[in-house]
Amino acid sequence: MLTIFWVVAILVGALALAYVNAGGGLWSAAIAVALIAAWAGQLVPTTLTLALALVFAVLAPPLLVPALRRALISNAVLDAFRKLMPPMSQTEREAIEAGTVWWDGELFSGKPAWRKLLDIPAPKLTADEQRFMDNEVQRLCELITDWETTNVYRDLPPEVWQFIKDKGFLGMSIAKEYGGLGFSAYAHSQVMTKLSTHSGTVSVTVMVPNSLGPAELLAQYGTDEQKRHYLPRLAKGLEIPCFALTNPSAGSDAASIPDYGVVCWGEHEGKRALGLRVTWDKRYITLGPVATLLGLAFRAYDPDHLVGDKDDVGITCALIPATHPGVDIGRRHMPLSAAFQNGPTWGKEVFIPMDWVIGGQPMLGRGWRMLMECLAAGRGISLPSSGTGMAKLAVRATGGYARVRQQFKTPIGKFEGIEEALTRMGGNLYMMDATRVLTATAIDLGEKPAVVSGIAKLHLTERGRQVVNDAMDIVGGKGICLGPSNFIGAAYMQVPVAITVEGANILTRSLIVFGQGAIRCHPYVLVEIAATREADRTKAAVAFDAALFGHMRFTLANLARTLVTGLTGSHFVGVPDGVAPETRRYYQQLTRFSAALAFLADVSMGSLGGALKRKEKLSARLGDILSLMYLCSATLKRYEDEGRQQVDAPLMHWAIWDAMFKAQTAFEGVISNFPNRALAAMMRRIVFPLGRPYVVPSDKLGHEVAKLLIEPTATRDRLTAGMFIARSGDGPVLQIERALVATLAAEPAEAKIRLAAKDGRLNTKLPPGAGLEVLVARAQTAGVIDAAEGTALLVARDLTAKVIRVDDFAQDLGASEMKLGAGSVHPPVTAAVVHKAAA
Ligand SMILES: Cc1cc2nc3c(=O)[nH]c(=O)nc-3n(C[C@H](O)[C@H](O)[C@H](O)COP(=O)(O)OP(=O)(O)OC[C@H]3O[C@@H](n4cnc5c(N)ncnc54)[C@H](O)[C@@H]3O)c2cc1C
Repeated sequence: MLTIFWVVAILVGALALAYVNAGGGLWSAAIAVALIAAWAGQLVPTTLTLALALVFAVLAPPLLVPALRRALISNAVLDAFRKLMPPMSQTEREAIEAGTVWWDGELFSGKPAWRKLLDIPAPKLTADEQRFMDNEVQRLCELITDWETTNVYRDLPPEVWQFIKDKGFLGMSIAKEYGGLGFSAYAHSQVMTKLSTHSGTVSVTVMVPNSLGPAELLAQYGTDEQKRHYLPRLAKGLEIPCFALTNPSAGSDAASIPDYGVVCWGEHEGKRALGLRVTWDKRYITLGPVATLLGLAFRAYDPDHLVGDKDDVGITCALIPATHPGVDIGRRHMPLSAAFQNGPTWGKEVFIPMDWVIGGQPMLGRGWRMLMECLAAGRGISLPSSGTGMAKLAVRATGGYARVRQQFKTPIGKFEGIEEALTRMGGNLYMMDATRVLTATAIDLGEKPAVVSGIAKLHLTERGRQVVNDAMDIVGGKGICLGPSNFIGAAYMQVPVAITVEGANILTRSLIVFGQGAIRCHPYVLVEIAATREADRTKAAVAFDAALFGHMRFTLANLARTLVTGLTGSHFVGVPDGVAPETRRYYQQLTRFSAALAFLADVSMGSLGGALKRKEKLSARLGDILSLMYLCSATLKRYEDEGRQQVDAPLMHWAIWDAMFKAQTAFEGVISNFPNRALAAMMRRIVFPLGRPYVVPSDKLGHEVAKLLIEPTATRDRLTAGMFIARSGDGPVLQIERALVATLAAEPAEAKIRLAAKDGRLNTKLPPGAGLEVLVARAQTAGVIDAAEGTALLVARDLTAKVIRVDDFAQDLGASEMKLGAGSVHPPVTAAVVHKAAA
């Protein structure tokens, strides 16, 4: 009996020591105590005690004395690692090392310090930024309609271009000292979100100069002279920039661009100058067709060793005026019919002087690192804002539409099927906006959060697509027939643009989030990798030894935490003081996920090594877990930052339950598909010792969410805060707003009529062709409703009629004005041709 007790005590003790990540000294002391107890109490045969003591005596010294440990263990492991490590190219290394680790590091720690997150102050706009939002941004939205830009001008109208330049939209991210607006990342994100709720064309046009483009590269890496010359011109719109990286043969694999520049002597402005002769072929370049300043990425070569001893100098970024001889620019692509400027550019053997290289000669070959660093920050602002903006538009307009549009004598928003889609839209948007704001906050804190910005780009554009798809299903034909009164069709068509650019989503999900996350956010892996590349063997041995044994303890700690939190439902996990009681359990569950992710990541990296890079499905699922934890963190922070709005709580609860269920599915996906089945079985026992505990959010909760979206509630206003709503006119969103208010005002009268009909006080059967007027008159005569109620019914009917109408066009839909592609065998389409064909 005592022996059983001793064995159990050892197991529990070991689990406890692992859980608290105990050091070697504590482990040794505990083992010594266990052995003494076994010997003193004669709990096991003395020979076994002696054998165990011998093993302990042999193993303990090398484990406790680093120098001995290095000589006997870690140096050998380091040598093996050096041979096993897959080769990493310079571009891969620069991509992995770019940016900073922030909250993502905590999520990977197995024990996130939630207080750190909650203590970050909620971002605020300055007075200037708020004024800009209320005036310039509002005005810009009022100046355009997406329909007109897309179908009439096929560009922004000239006065809108001028407004954008004059008001500094192209220089939001340029510092005030250079004449820019010097906005915070949060303000920039607010502007982009608002523009995206109204017009994709204007939002993309403003987005590019403010994100990964010449201004950002110049501000970070430009020479003083380049900054002084270009930044004020860019800020005032005197230059329109674009940035050209993508080549027909190098899209996602942008580091392999074949565009090249050869260092040579040439002639510039009549003088002999050192420079590069550059050849490029780029496509998909946003603002390219109207750019005056071409940012260009190419690979520099120095075969004559004019600037150093390397032949292949590496990717380089330069700024070339579009008017420079040899620069070909101006033709347009048609990206899903959107009217923002986008097109190819090419040039052959174009000589540029060395001081056109961003940062000058010292930055030759440093282009990839520059791009990766800028991407680490920029990717966290523009596209997350654009995805969220589209979702705000979809939620607000579709929620209203679902209330005013009736079928089967019921607002469609009250059918459970529609409710399900509305719930998804609301829950997604709550989480998306929270993530957008948190990510911008990180950038304002000075971070360049490479992993977090990748997560935000991927998930906010992906969820934006889901929200817009749900909206399309809810509005039915009204969403499909394009025209000025369609509020969602353009977003539906343009959503794939955001999915594709700045790292297409499949690639980001499969390769970047976990691939970069596991290496960057893990407390030891990057140190271990660096040690395998360190030339100084002594330095490498010391660093590797510390990292390796820290890593082993870390893995053991996460194993113990995963098992213990799984067995106890994480009820005993500490929660930061003062959080909303209704969210306490979420912090506990997320801490469990953090330990389990870190554990699974270590098992995956340890057992699959470099092969994990090719196991993209596993990597994507591990990345999903990290992403979902980040999205949940943002959601919990939003709930606190907004003062724990009880009425919004259903949105927060739904979003977190949905994410926890999805995270569980991702864990299950990793375990079920893990190539080593024995390890998979072990992982399942540890991660889900009592089965899978998370369920989908309940229908009851979903009902509460949907209800909030189909009425003009404060929650709906908070959810769609910052979106553009016209103050006048007959734009589709404003029409829905008006109809929604009118519909709700008319509902009491409708209810009275229904009751009167049921009681037999009112005959609601109308003769064929009779309109609502007849029923209203009858109801008024019967004393069922008064005159004001009658008017309310008629106003609601009229405003709803405007909302549900769709546009129609002449026979040729304007096709006769379009040129057919070269080589087409068809005659130009005209109304007459179409009509004849139909006949
Ligand atoms: C409207 C628009 C605007 C753009 N603006 C600019 C701009 O201003 N400047 C500029 O330089 N470029 C720009 N681009 C280019 C954009 O960055 C690329 O389209 C993008 O990098 C993807 O390249 P690709 O289209 O050639 O797709 P591909 O690289 O052919 O990829 C096709 C698919 O394969 C997936 N994929 C690729 N590799 C992997 C992998 N290892 N694992 C899993 N999946 C993978 C991708 O995710 C994608 O789904 C723009 C593109 C568009 C459409």
